[in-house]
This record gives sequence, structure tokens and C-alpha cells, in this order.
Amino acid sequence: MKYFAGIDLGGTTIKGGIVDAENRIICSKSIRTLPERGFEAVAEDIAVLFEELVKSSGLEMASIEYLGAGSPGAVDVKIGKVFFSGNLGWENAELGKYLKNRLGKDVYVGNDASCAALGEFLCLEDKSIDSMAMMTVGTGVGFGLILGGHMYSGATYGGGEFGHTTLVFAGEQCTCGKKGCIEAYASFTALIRDAFKLAEDNPDGRIAEIIKRDGTIDGKSIFEAAIAGYPDARKLTETFIEYIGAGVVNIINILDPQMIVIGGGISRSSDYFLPKLIEYARENAFCRQVKLCDIRVASKGNDAGIIGAARLGDYI
Ligand SMILES: [Zn+2]
Repeated sequence: MKYFAGIDLGGTTIKGGIVDAENRIICSKSIRTLPERGFEAVAEDIAVLFEELVKSSGLEMASIEYLGAGSPGAVDVKIGKVFFSGNLGWENAELGKYLKNRLGKDVYVGNDASCAALGEFLCLEDKSIDSMAMMTVGTGVGFGLILGGHMYSGATYGGGEFGHTTLVFAGEQCTCGKKGCIEAYASFTALIRDAFKLAEDNPDGRIAEIIKRDGTIDGKSIFEAAIAGYPDARKLTETFIEYIGAGVVNIINILDPQMIVIGGGISRSSDYFLPKLIEYARENAFCRQVKLCDIRVASKGNDAGIIGAARLGDYI
């Protein structure tokens, strides 16, 4: 059996695992990122985490085929350089080089959302699928693309920033500096902003009541209120689902993939949102004469990022 090691590097936590050739995680561990310490300290922690994972899985470093890491931001997959990551405060960070020198193994580094898409793709039961897009709805909007059975990162690795394509010209301010990006409408950050606005306009509604009670609100409680049938929460989430739907329709119209996977916290409310999302896509996709692609929620949760990172070397 071949073994691989994968790391999912986030702004808050670093999750790592040893993955076998059937894409099962056989051993995993998480540590805190603490990115304010700078690149070298974080890279060294990742090296130590790899060593600990290999040790706790009862394997030798020699039995690991290669190492992979998923990082936020734009990444040169082949040399493992993170050009820029706002979450980590990194610019031109040579993560691949550092780990290769330190551990003496081949190292691949990919964008974290692309790694999650690859992880979900590798765990699909239907092996006839070779084109799949994944849209992750969380604090931001992540995107990963599998084309021809391989991860697609773009000619200069700047692709896949679907969250920063424009949904509304000169619309809401986005974290990237532009206005009107999909992320400024279809992320939980945007949903919460819209919930506060709604509470002002509708002070007697359930959303206003939660904000008054808790001083704040999160995506989970907004969806719970919608599922419980409160009209203001329904209206808010239905508009939110349409924003996600507009993103999904853009993906369909450009790429026509066999499958679109929706990941992130929203996948927990799939009974409520998925039928609405599919209906929106069916009504709005350009070519309504063909069967709509398979739209489903992610099934691997946090494991997808580790699995995809661990297998990067075979799918780039
Ligand atoms: Zn943006």
C-alpha cells in the first residue's frame, strides 16, 4: 500500500493527515497556526507536524510517497510557492522549498479550495465523473475545479478566484478591494451583514429578536430560523440562496461540468437549501434543453482538504 501525507493550512488551524492509496485518512492531527509569528515559524511547525503524523501512523518517512499542503491564496503548484495569502500574511513564501529541504521529500502545495475540490472528487463513488467544480460558502467563497480528472489551477496559477468575479457591478464592498464580487453576496459574512440590515428594516422580526437577544447573529441561527418558518429569515435565506444560485449558473454557463459540489457550513442545511438552489439553476441556466448537471453538497467536510492535499502530486 502507498501512503501520502497532506496538510490543510488555514489562518486559525493546520490540519494534517496520512492518507492511503484508497484516499482514507489513517491518522490525523491539528495544531494552531498562529500566523502572526511569521512564515518560518509556521513552516517549521508544519514540518514537525508531518514528522509526528508519520510517527503516529507507525510508518517510516521512506514509506510516504510525497507530501502535499493546501494553502489559502494564489499558489505555484509545481514549486510550492505561495505568491500571496492575506489570511496568513504571506508574500512569495517558499513553503515547498522549505519543507523539501527540511524533510527530504517531494512537496506539492496547492490552493486550499482546489485541494478540497480534489479531495471530494477523489472520494466520489462514480468514477466516470472527470469534470467537477466545487463552490465553498463560508466566511468567503472558495472555488476549486477538476477538469479531465486533474486539478485546474490556471496558466499562471491565478485562476479559480471565482469568489472575486463580479455579481453586481459597483455593488457591495468586497474584502479584496473591489466592489460587487460574488463573495460580497454569497458568503456568510455577506449574509450576516444583510441580516443586520434586515433587522433595522424589520425590528419586530425573528432576525431582529435574535440580534437583540445575543448582540450578534451567525449563519447557523439564520438558517435555523428559516427552517423553523420565520418569514423574515425565509426571505433573507431565499435571497442568499439565489446569490449562490447565480454563482452556480455562471459556473454551468462557462464550464458545463458534470457535477457541482457545494461545500462549507451551508451544507449542513442541505434539505432546506439544495432543492431551492437546484430549482434556481434549472430555471436560469442558459441551455435548459439538456439535463441539469448533478448539484450536491460536499460529503467529506474538513477531511476533503487533507485528502486532496495528500494526493496533489498525482493530479496536477
Ligand atoms: Zn472580491
